[in-house]
Amino acid sequence: MLSTKDAIKLEDKYGAHNYHPLPVVLAKGDGVYVWDPEGNRYFDFLSAYSAVNQGHCHPHIIGALKKQAETLTLTSRAFYNNVLGEYEQFITNFFGFDKVLPMNTGAEGVETAIKICRKWAYEVKGIPENEAKIIVCNNNFHGRTTTVISFSNDPDASKNFGPYTPGFEKVEYNNLDELEEALKGENIAGFLVEPIQGEAGVMVPDENYLKKAAALCKKHNALFIADEIQTGIARTGSLLAVCGNCTCQGSCERQPDHYVKPDILILGKALSGGVYPVSAVLADNDVMDVIKPGQHGSTFGGNPLAARVAIAALEVVQDEKLSQNARKLGEIFREAMNELKDECELINLVRGKGLLNAVQINDSPDSSTAWNLCVKLKDNGLLAKPTHGNIIRFAPPLVMNEEQLQKCIQIIRKTFLEFEA
Ligand SMILES: *Cc1c(COP(=O)(O)O)cnc(C)c1O
Repeated sequence: MLSTKDAIKLEDKYGAHNYHPLPVVLAKGDGVYVWDPEGNRYFDFLSAYSAVNQGHCHPHIIGALKKQAETLTLTSRAFYNNVLGEYEQFITNFFGFDKVLPMNTGAEGVETAIKICRKWAYEVKGIPENEAKIIVCNNNFHGRTTTVISFSNDPDASKNFGPYTPGFEKVEYNNLDELEEALKGENIAGFLVEPIQGEAGVMVPDENYLKKAAALCKKHNALFIADEIQTGIARTGSLLAVCGNCTCQGSCERQPDHYVKPDILILGKALSGGVYPVSAVLADNDVMDVIKPGQHGSTFGGNPLAARVAIAALEVVQDEKLSQNARKLGEIFREAMNELKDECELINLVRGKGLLNAVQINDSPDSSTAWNLCVKLKDNGLLAKPTHGNIIRFAPPLVMNEEQLQKCIQIIRKTFLEFEA
C-alpha cells in the first residue's frame, strides 16, 4: 500500500490543486473511525462535510449497493427502471412531498431547484420572461457551478470565473426586515436559503427565522427553497433543519406548528450515506409539474444503483434513530466545549445544533491558528477541518455513541489545553 508520504506526493504532482487538504491520507473507514495507510486510527469529525452521517461503509447501505451493482446499474431515463419508482415513492413519503426530481451532486440539485423556481415564476406566477429574480443570502454556500458561484460572496469561489449569471439578489442572513424589503421588489421568484449556514461557519439563525421567512415568501407569492444538503438527514438533531425542534423521523407534516415546509427542498450528501453521489429536489405538484419531458435531466440521475443506495441510507437514519442521537450528543458536546471555552483562552464562541457544531478561535480571522489546531488534533487522533475565518467545524458521523463522544471530547480538551500551554 502507498505510504502517507507517497500518496500525498502523487496528488500534489498529478492532481489539480483545487483543495488544500489536511496532511493525512485515509485508507479505510468503519463507522466513526478512519485509518491511514500506516494503520493509525482517527475519529472522523468532518464526515465528508456531513455526507457520512450514517458512518463509514455502513453494512446496510453497502449491502444494498453490492446487490444492485450486480444486477443493474444504469439505464438512463430513456427507459424506465424497476427501482426508481419504488425510490420515488419512498423518498416522497419520507419527507412529505408529492414528487422528487433525482440528480447526483448537491450543486446539480441547487441548479435544478433554480430552474424549477424560474420556470414556476414565468408559467405560474406570470413574471415577464427573463426577469425572474431569486433572493439569496450573504455568505451562502450552494456549490461550485458557474451559476451558483455567480451569487457567492467568497472571492475565492467567484473571482475570474465571470461573466456571472444574473438574476440573484443578496440579503443579510437571519434578517427578516431585509428579506421582506427584497420580497416586495419586482419579479421575485423565490428565496434560496441554508437553514443553518454550514460553510460560513455553522451560523444558526434565530429561533423563528425560518418559519417567518417561509411565511413572508408565502405572503409575497415567492417560493421558499431550502438547501438542506448539509443540514438535512438528521445532522442537526431532526430529520431536516427546517423541522426546528421536532423529533419526528419524517412525519413532520403532522406537526405543522414545528415544521416549516419548503416549497422546494434540496437534499444531497447524506442521502446516500456518502456511498455514491445522490441528490434530490422535492416539491409538490403545483411546483414540480412545471417541468415537462425534455426540459431537464441527467444521464445518471435516478439510476437504479443510486435509488437502492438512497433507500438504504434513509432506512438507516430511521432504524437507528439518528436524529435523536444527534440531538442528545450535540447537547453533551456543546456543554463540554463551553466548559473548555471557560478554561481556555483559545475559544471565544461555541455554536451549533445537533451534531453540526463549530468553535470560533480567539485569533484574527486570517491567522493560521485553527489550521494548526487541526493538525494537532490529527496528531492526537481526531480529524476536523477549519472553515473560513478561524472556525473549526465539528461534525462526526451520527452513529457515534456517548462513550466514543466522551473520548473525542478528551482529545479536543487535551489538544486545546496543550496548544495554549
Ligand atoms: C456541499 C453543499 C453543496 C454542494 O454539494 P456538492 O455535492 O459538493 O455539489 C450545496 N449546498 C450546501 C449547503 C452544501 O453544504
